[in-house]
Amino acid sequence: MSLLDVRDLRIAFRQDGQLTEAVRGVSFTVEKGETVALVGESGSGKSITALSTVSLLPDSAEVSGSVTYDGAQMIGADERELRRVRGNDISFIFQEPMTSLNPLHTIEKQLAESIRLHQGLTGTAVRTRILDLLEKVGIQDAESRIGSFPHQLSGGQRQRVMIAMALANGPELLIADEPTTALDVTIQAQILELLADLKRDEGMSMLFITHDLGIVRRFADRVCVMQQGEIVETGPVAEIFDRPQHPYTKMLLAAES
Ligand code: ADP
Ligand code: MG
Repeated sequence: MSLLDVRDLRIAFRQDGQLTEAVRGVSFTVEKGETVALVGESGSGKSITALSTVSLLPDSAEVSGSVTYDGAQMIGADERELRRVRGNDISFIFQEPMTSLNPLHTIEKQLAESIRLHQGLTGTAVRTRILDLLEKVGIQDAESRIGSFPHQLSGGQRQRVMIAMALANGPELLIADEPTTALDVTIQAQILELLADLKRDEGMSMLFITHDLGIVRRFADRVCVMQQGEIVETGPVAEIFDRPQHPYTKMLLAAES
């Protein structure tokens, strides 16, 4: 059984009485320990595909098809089940960490909430766990950083904190939606290094969304190429990069070099 199994996913938005299909019959799996990349130009449906895995789409979206996580159906699942999966099994990292961190709370407070909620730790164990997490994500001098507010950190440090938040609940599957796009190139490389470590050391499974083929080549095991709401080509990374079949994939590869 696949960890994540998406079958014939369709997502349409109702606007001014009209229904527009944005994802049109997408199917893919993520196996345990595997990194699957979703690539494609902006607007091709990558983010909404990812969000639909744990029913995070707005109410204006109509979703059909099947998404199972560890065998449990996520589409139409009740709130309690969804909260369980979001809380314990799947974590997200997004492009812009500033929008996901609370500007009014210290790093310690934001991480503490997540840790208390999901891991049932209390007292000094919480602080120890926070320092562990900050160290794991490569925040230098965690002791002195723990009391900082988000705006006091650099973009790269904020993204590291976001990754620490995502890891706080010990997820099995990490969904990373363009996690390095907003960062400058050196920091991008460091964040990717960190994600690669998580994959190698902890066998983390990942769904990695990017429009950067260089990242896919380095990082992913399999790739799904999306165009206008459909997966036009999918397979092992080496195979797709060496022998692309679909004109759109060929174009992406040509544009890269
Ligand atoms: P990507 O992540 O590949 O850039 P998205 O998944 O964000 O693309 O969006 C795919 C398409 O879905 C968009 O081009 C847009 O037409 C539509 N869409 C996304 N979110 C909404 C929304 N909240 N309301 C209406 N349409 C939306
Ligand atoms: Mg997106």
